[in-house]
Amino acid sequence: MSDTIAALSTPLAPGGIGVIRISGDDAIAVADKVIKTTSGKPLSTLKGYTAAHGKAYDGGELLDECVALVFRAPKSYTGEDTVEISCHGGVLVTSKVLRAALKAGARAAEGGEFTKRAFLNGKMDLSEAEAVMSLISAKGEGGMKAALTALDGALSKKIDAYCNVLVSAAANMAAWVDYPDDEIPDLDLDVLLTSLNEVYAGLDGLLCKFDAGKALTDGIETAIVGKPNVGKSALMNMLSGFRRSIVTDIAGTTRDVVEETVRVGRVILNLADTAGIRESADAVESIGVELAKEKIERAGLILAVFDVSRGLDESDDEILELCKGREVIGVINKTDLPRKADIEKIKESISEVIFTSALKGDGEKELAEAIERAIGTDKIDTSQAMLTTERQRRSAEKALASIKEAIDAVNMGMTMDAINVCIDSAIEDLLELTGKKAREAVVDEVFSQFCVGK
Ligand code: GDP
Repeated sequence: MSDTIAALSTPLAPGGIGVIRISGDDAIAVADKVIKTTSGKPLSTLKGYTAAHGKAYDGGELLDECVALVFRAPKSYTGEDTVEISCHGGVLVTSKVLRAALKAGARAAEGGEFTKRAFLNGKMDLSEAEAVMSLISAKGEGGMKAALTALDGALSKKIDAYCNVLVSAAANMAAWVDYPDDEIPDLDLDVLLTSLNEVYAGLDGLLCKFDAGKALTDGIETAIVGKPNVGKSALMNMLSGFRRSIVTDIAGTTRDVVEETVRVGRVILNLADTAGIRESADAVESIGVELAKEKIERAGLILAVFDVSRGLDESDDEILELCKGREVIGVINKTDLPRKADIEKIKESISEVIFTSALKGDGEKELAEAIERAIGTDKIDTSQAMLTTERQRRSAEKALASIKEAIDAVNMGMTMDAINVCIDSAIEDLLELTGKKAREAVVDEVFSQFCVGK
């Protein structure tokens, strides 16, 4: 038994069409109280996957002309009886149709409740539900493709396969421990180690690509740094494709941190154009310098900009110093002007150096490729399984640690029981990853991030 929920599944904004979704045991009965079909046949007489034209009413008040789409359990998104009412996409119209459905007996759905029901009814696992969310919020091509791959169950299949390897290893060991006198062949520790190493390598590979995958889906915090007037704002404008920062000749005009999300190739950069790094007597600018240093601290990628038409000075040295040990690309800007800067000195500190003229738009492609290389997204194949959420990463990391313990236990000649405990714990973590055995709190955490109507 499931109660019947309803929500507006399209944005509450003027649009061509607005969709009110109703799902649950009484979904069709509720919709029948709101909709009078043009054919006169109640929705309850219709088969699944049938659309009916009609009019929506709140009691006696005509609300709109609409089309109702009937889905019969289990063949619907949620796995329950569902009706989707498409009406005209006005803020007032959709709100009124939704209110009529609520008056007719539905309850207002909570955020992500439709997808949660799909999960509880076995329509998708947790990683697929998370993929739905990634797909909705995808900002770039790479993130969208990765979400579609996950929605297709690529990660679940991979994790299920690892689970099966571990379960059969554990079962062999259990049989051997429990029935030592039966005709069970001796446990071959080499075979066990091979299985454990296979799963270890697979999970390790997924974890190694996590950060790069995140750059495709969520973007990477990127700081553009450089002394005043080297062309940071101009570079940001070149990357974002329109004038966003103020570009002037007066040193120190970019005082605040200007933030911008831009798509460079397949990668999403959450860009911060920082105030010029230099000690300044100007109080406002000093705040900017502090902000810049903070941004560098938090950045996953730094674009350090130098002006090729001027000799390097102490401020450039300070920047080279700040970039030490960080993921950084040196951007040598103003290549349209005569070269005066000591480029070799920059190359001594920064291995990846790109030449640009932000003014003319030169070097953008080379910069995009360097960014992909620096983050590692050039090695990501979005048609392959990958971990896309922090939750998935945590579970995979816990499983990896348990498998490492199991491998160590085998190598140290520990008892079968000790090895089994480690393998069991890895299996638990993997089952939590796909949600096949997730704690309620974990499930709630996943769905709390969804919007209402999804
Ligand atoms: P910021 O202080 O580092 O943000 O520098 P801006 O982006 O404000 O640029 C400072 C000045 O340099 C402006 O007059 C820009 O037009 C100029 N500039 C920026 N990039 C280039 C470039 O590639 N070539 C040339 N010739 N001038 C540039």
